[in-house]
Amino acid sequence: MKRRLTSQDAGEIFSELHKLWPDAHCELEHKTPFQLLLAVVLSAQTTDKAVNKALSPLLEKQPGFAPSDLVNLGEKKFLNVIKSIGLAPTKARNSVALARQLLSLHGGDVPMDRKSLEDLPGVGRKTANVVLNVIGGLPTMAVDTHVARVSVRLGLARPTENRLQIENDLLQIVPAEWGVQAHNLLIFHGRYHCTARVPKCEICPVKSQCRKIGVR
Ligand code: SF4
Repeated sequence: MKRRLTSQDAGEIFSELHKLWPDAHCELEHKTPFQLLLAVVLSAQTTDKAVNKALSPLLEKQPGFAPSDLVNLGEKKFLNVIKSIGLAPTKARNSVALARQLLSLHGGDVPMDRKSLEDLPGVGRKTANVVLNVIGGLPTMAVDTHVARVSVRLGLARPTENRLQIENDLLQIVPAEWGVQAHNLLIFHGRYHCTARVPKCEICPVKSQCRKIGVR
């Protein structure tokens, strides 16, 4: 049986992943913290691509689209904007409520602390982690389907359905120097290389370190 990965192994893995994905970044299009928060809320159970496609006509017309604009637009019209993505009615309702709460409690700004973020309608731990990472530059681990799959396969996290456990395993093992970038590097690797059905192990730059947990 192979030994468990150490933080040093994790550092080598992220160094290799960074060579492969030097431009790993959040692919949800946004120009402001609010637009990112909104996009992340909308991205639950759908792809970033679908969210970008739904929002792009609106954001092209209103590049500074802000909470007050969303409240003015209203739930019904916003539902029409996002109707192509999954769970649109619930997301439209939550988004307008979220915009209202940002205006009433935070002066229209996106708060940069976890508690205030998670108190917003439709915002859970993963969404808060993305915002704190991308906008706040903090070493948070937003565990989506790609991060969960790749972390477990690599051996950076123990196999589990519990995403909080995966997040905690990553926080333990990822060296500080990779803390901010780790999330996007794992997403890019999962989205474009270590895909769910056909991981490209033969040409993977971290194949010597990877534990290939659950890979047939
Ligand atoms: S070696 Fe295979 S399972 Fe491991 S990270 Fe690379 S593609 Fe994924």
